[in-house]
Amino acid sequence: MIFSGSIIVVTGGTRGIGRAISLAFARNGAQVFAAYLSNDDAAASLVVEAGGLPGSVVVIKADVSTTEGAQKVINAASQESGHIDVLVNNAGIVKDGFLAMMADDDWDAVIRTNLYPLFHCCKWGVRRMLARRRGSIITISSISGISGASGQTNYAASKGAAISFTKSLARELGGMGIRVNAVVAGLIRTDMTEGLKQDVVDRIVKNSALGRIGTPEEVAAAVLFLASEQASYITGQALIVDGGVV
Ligand code: NAD
Repeated sequence: MIFSGSIIVVTGGTRGIGRAISLAFARNGAQVFAAYLSNDDAAASLVVEAGGLPGSVVVIKADVSTTEGAQKVINAASQESGHIDVLVNNAGIVKDGFLAMMADDDWDAVIRTNLYPLFHCCKWGVRRMLARRRGSIITISSISGISGASGQTNYAASKGAAISFTKSLARELGGMGIRVNAVVAGLIRTDMTEGLKQDVVDRIVKNSALGRIGTPEEVAAAVLFLASEQASYITGQALIVDGGVV
């Protein structure tokens, strides 16, 4: 078990891609701290599902787009040991719509939820990595942030920023033994994509080399690779996991 005893924080870690990441780390022996915003049932069911695994999962209700919420999660995770090993910035939302009709609130909510946690969680998380001069930060971005997507100016702006944030922080922290990478996901089957119109899904699938939607587990596998010693010379990268769309 390659993450035995490692302390992992996963924001948005109780549903969809984040849930698969939490379970994959726990399957590999890690102590996972999964932050979530509001769905208590999903959080409770994750704890049950993780019950039989070699590692453990603790769920923490906190809004990681605020400094208080981010501190709450990082403090809980590092309370016993004083450090964290891996931070996965996964929490995110969509509020799609054409720009000319987009409500101010929909712009604000997406930028706030997808971008602010990178600042707050990394700021407090890095402080729990510096003393040991080791750690890994992985942020979940989207191919919308690379290629753009009609109806997703807010989302694409936040996900493009996640990549430039990653590259800058990697340069800042490389000398301190901390690696910073992004996983750039394509279309993945989760609650977030459930409401997509079938013709939109069909178009994306048709444009992909592999000709199918991805699974949360396939994104989780890339996250675990980047967090592992196998990726010890990889930092500042945006690893695209999209079945060959971009
Ligand atoms: P999801 O809706 O299934 O899960 C999102 C999670 O984020 C939930 O657990 C929710 O509680 C949490 N969350 C939202 N706001 C939060 C906040 N302020 N504080 C704490 N937690 C918060 O979505 P998903 O599809 O699993 O997406 C996960 C990540 O992957 C997102 O960043 C998303 O943008 C990205 N992504 C998803 C896809 C896809 O096709 N599903 C593609 C590319 C990127």
